[in-house]
Amino acid sequence: MKYIDEYRDPVAAECCAAAIARITRRPWTIMEICGGQTHAIVKFGIDRLLPDRITLVHGPGCPVCVTPVEKIERALAIASRPEVTFCSFGDMLRVPGVNTDLQSVRARGGDVRVVYSPLDALRLAEENPEREVVFFAVGFETTAPANAMAVHQAKGRGLANFTLLVSQVLVPPAIAALLNDPECRLDGFLAAGHVCTVAGYDEYEPLAERHHVPMVVTGFEPLDILQGIYMCVRQLEEGRAVVENQYRRSVRREGNQPARRLIHEVFEVVDRRWRGVGVIPASGLALRPAYRDFDAEVRFPDGGDVTEEASECISGRILRGVTKPHDCPAFGTRCTPEHPLGATMVSSEGACAAYYRYRRPLAAQGGV
Ligand code: SF4
Repeated sequence: MKYIDEYRDPVAAECCAAAIARITRRPWTIMEICGGQTHAIVKFGIDRLLPDRITLVHGPGCPVCVTPVEKIERALAIASRPEVTFCSFGDMLRVPGVNTDLQSVRARGGDVRVVYSPLDALRLAEENPEREVVFFAVGFETTAPANAMAVHQAKGRGLANFTLLVSQVLVPPAIAALLNDPECRLDGFLAAGHVCTVAGYDEYEPLAERHHVPMVVTGFEPLDILQGIYMCVRQLEEGRAVVENQYRRSVRREGNQPARRLIHEVFEVVDRRWRGVGVIPASGLALRPAYRDFDAEVRFPDGGDVTEEASECISGRILRGVTKPHDCPAFGTRCTPEHPLGATMVSSEGACAAYYRYRRPLAAQGGV
């Protein structure tokens, strides 16, 4: 545990928070993009170490949370087919569609399996040639290389019974959409370190310059996040707006070039709907025409009509940093992890789930 402990040193964290307080002169609102960072902030109480003038808001960086309802409905329709073995990461099984979820499909006899990699699903397809094996390819730039590799290998091996249901999204277009949204008042961003490990941060630089908003590529441990906030506040106080890299132990400006090439070979950029947010131009990935035979939506075209969100759930406002989970009237009462109304309560990276787990007693007292 040597490395984890070093990045969670409480004395160093206090020093870092004091350094932030010393340089903060004006009020600033900073958004962390990634759900993993949100989780760490709430779990370790990082927001409570900061001066009152710094407000942290939580961004749309939870892939489970932003998968649109119609894609969940499509997954449910495909997983219900008798010839299909439907493979997914575990978090997706309880995400509610309109009336049900994948876990319920499995309870009714559907062949729904939790896997830890798309390559596990690929192996299932090879071992079970009589089954149609579908992998639910959900995620940001981080998961795209493994999904691209699975399809690439399936094509190379001539596997005819393996497809992907693709719901891949991209971070920079989402940041651009937030910056163009008049309801979002954001002064700076902590960009997600693992996304930038794959994709680099060259695409963030024109955004920072055009909108004059500092962006700091940041890791996930408490000291990473505090240092990222310090770097962001320092830019804000000095009137600068560039991309800086706090997570240098993992991220290079150009990212992982072989991974980026593989993503580009297999996927093309398309408009994509984000749950609770709406369609964001050029914010998703779809299989290129050369890989259409591996597209589950082509092989199983039924189901997945565009649907409205449940009116009670305000996760779209939470994912845009406009409000926080405890402002939702259903939080902790009608909406809990056991009975979630929205995806941000389902995923372990969802902001509502993080607040429920670590802040619920105070929220119930109105004290968060
Ligand atoms: S608490 Fe539940 S209903 Fe409210 S925003 Fe979060 S997920 Fe939606």
